[in-house]
Amino acid sequence: MNYWKEFLPFYFYSAIAGSLTIKASWYKSYSLSKILLLAGVGMISWMFVEYGLHRFFFHYEAKSPTAKQLVYRMHLSHHENPKALDSLFSSLYTSVPFASFYCLLTWLVTGSWQMMSYLFLGLITGYFAYELLHYQAHHYTSKLAPLRYLKKYHMLHHYQSPKCRFGVTTPFIDWLFGTYKAVASKNAEKTLTV
Ligand SMILES: [Zn+2]
Ligand SMILES: [Zn+2]
Repeated sequence: MNYWKEFLPFYFYSAIAGSLTIKASWYKSYSLSKILLLAGVGMISWMFVEYGLHRFFFHYEAKSPTAKQLVYRMHLSHHENPKALDSLFSSLYTSVPFASFYCLLTWLVTGSWQMMSYLFLGLITGYFAYELLHYQAHHYTSKLAPLRYLKKYHMLHHYQSPKCRFGVTTPFIDWLFGTYKAVASKNAEKTLTV
């Protein structure tokens, strides 16, 4: 496995979010509780970003060949070959435009690049949790019941209902937007072995 290539997004976003956080705390002294609150909001916002991207971009029914190719590279290649790491972890080509848009939007809304930095730190924490949970869903069967549940839930998205069960870090977001389906299924246990 080429760790440098496959894990490049982890190094890249750790460096960006880390530098922004250090710079933000250097220039303006927010209280620890405000920093934690902003990072917490950033983490919660990840849940919505994850859902929005997965449902509306990654499974977009493209018409033009260029758009089809883009959707394939962003996500459908992962459905075609779920265990391959180069399509399991989002590439920087996919994530950088969305990450830039998130930073710009939160900067405009809050009017403060320091607040944006703490929100981004939370977002990246959520994003890393997503990548790790997604990895475990395809490559590992945990003894912990919540992780086994998330694995099962995601396997059913792959092999039974690609138009539902978009949440990887939590099924709560599917419940919120009407795409939740319970995992109780004859095939659910079978999918754990895929
Ligand atoms: Zn997957
Ligand atoms: Zn999908």
